[in-house]
Amino acid sequence: MKKSIFLKIFGLYLLVIILLSSSILFFTFKSIKSHHLDYQKQSLINITSALELKILPLVEQKQFKELEILIKNLDKIISTRITVIDSRGVVLADSENDPKSMENHKYRAEILKALNGEIGQSIRTSPTNKEEMLYVAKPLREKGRIIAVLRVSVFLKQINQLLDSLKNRIFHIVIIILTVSFILSYFFSRSLSKPIKLLAGASRDVAGGNFASRVYLKNRGEFKVLADSFNYMSSEIQASFEKISRQKEELNSIIFSMQEGLVLLDKDDKIILFNRAFAGLAGAENPGDKFIWEIIRDPKLSALVKKVRMEKKNALDEIELDQKTLLLSATGIPGSRRADNELVLILHDITELKKLETIKKDFVENVSHELKTPLTAVKGFIETMEEEKELNKRYLDVIKRNIDRLISIVQDLSVLSNLENKGARTDFREVYIKEAVENAVKIFEKQINEKGLFLKLELDKNLPGITADPFKLEQLFINLLDNAVKYTEKGGVTISAEKSGSHIKIEVIDTGIGIPKEHLSRIFERFYVVDKSRSRKLGGTGLGLSIVKHIVLLHNGSITAENLPAGEHGTKFIINLPI
Ligand code: ADP
Repeated sequence: MKKSIFLKIFGLYLLVIILLSSSILFFTFKSIKSHHLDYQKQSLINITSALELKILPLVEQKQFKELEILIKNLDKIISTRITVIDSRGVVLADSENDPKSMENHKYRAEILKALNGEIGQSIRTSPTNKEEMLYVAKPLREKGRIIAVLRVSVFLKQINQLLDSLKNRIFHIVIIILTVSFILSYFFSRSLSKPIKLLAGASRDVAGGNFASRVYLKNRGEFKVLADSFNYMSSEIQASFEKISRQKEELNSIIFSMQEGLVLLDKDDKIILFNRAFAGLAGAENPGDKFIWEIIRDPKLSALVKKVRMEKKNALDEIELDQKTLLLSATGIPGSRRADNELVLILHDITELKKLETIKKDFVENVSHELKTPLTAVKGFIETMEEEKELNKRYLDVIKRNIDRLISIVQDLSVLSNLENKGARTDFREVYIKEAVENAVKIFEKQINEKGLFLKLELDKNLPGITADPFKLEQLFINLLDNAVKYTEKGGVTISAEKSGSHIKIEVIDTGIGIPKEHLSRIFERFYVVDKSRSRKLGGTGLGLSIVKHIVLLHNGSITAENLPAGEHGTKFIINLPI
């Protein structure tokens, strides 16, 4: 490319110069030759006119001897062959040859013309000298009648020699002109091809993605205008490209930081774009360039994709994947040529939502069940009371117990719903764990003594205060102590608290019946009880630990439950509350 532009321009110039020079050489030479011949002819005509004055009288008086001496002398002076021929073509005298040895000249072209009364001329090889000659013949008249022809001639050899030397000189000049033109056209072609080369190089750069490429030309003119336009164009492209790249980056960061899994499928269901969340949800390290059914094998998903493609409408469905529930939403890409084929799938992880739904459903079921039992009992005993008046006292006791149970369920539910209303009626201030524990313990002292249990408090003396709601914190310890005392027959309860980093770590340990391992993860759910009849007998509602968990969460803390190590009976609740 680089070479060809230069070579094309340079070659073209060279061709034009050579053609021009050779045609100039040819036509100049041709016109010089014809001009020279014309000049020569004219001189010969002039010579014949001058000679006629001397020769005509001798011809008229037929003094051919004198005529011959005269023309021979004249030949020496003017270096021109002179021939006199009579009207029949017989040579009367010739300055170079013996007239008697010469053949009849009547039919020589120039003689024929002269005998016709015109000035005859011709260029031909002389049969006498065997050389090319220029002849001019003039009729000699006596009283108007042509009596002879005076012919002068010169060798063309001289003219040719002159022309040869002229040709040589012109040739030298042409060589000089050619060399100079060659050098000039070389530089001119270079100056023409250089900006083209620069522009071509810069265009290649831009095509290759280097939009910062610019062309700076020193000289003014069309190329400068072109270079300026090019620079303007590439700066515009650069700005647009940067804008598009920025927008693409923004879009990418939005797509990649999305909580929802996003995946773009081509017409064959191959993954052409996906985000991190998708890879996480699908449990695939690198799903790119794979088919969606290789990553998620679920007939529901395939059916959804097919449906969107056929009906050209968005569609939703739920699938189960690796113990997760995913809500799939499929959309055809609108406004694109490929809209019929490409498709976006969004995967929402609704596992927690589903769990919550189940918990809520269980909760309602449990509430109605828990309320139904005491209410049925109350109703039954009231009916019996109506029939058997003397048993009133015993039945009234049962009614009272069931009413108490109803009241405690309703109370716990109201505490729970208060706690769920995050932030509502919370009275945060600086609270000391020690105070809350001691207040709660007071309530259970009597019960502990009656059961013969021990109560150990291992509270660090230098515990800092925490920001908390004092009543709720007290409620937390009441519920835990209530359970600990309820489910412990032998041994006792230990409450410890110590500072651990930026938290206070509290442990409530009892030596009771413990919680079977499989129930540990569910005991904080509402109404969840391990042993229904035992819990009911002990006056439990199944809401105590649920309340505890809510209080802990309200204080941005955490709670876990574990059994004491094998060999020891009992349960340990570990609570961490931020200072
Ligand atoms: P309940 O009012 O029935 O005690 P909770 O929500 O307080 O309800 O506790 C849920 C269940 O967890 C209880 O039914 C019981 O089976 C178990 N539980 C709680 N605390 C203890 C403990 N300290 N020892 C043994 N089991 C416990």
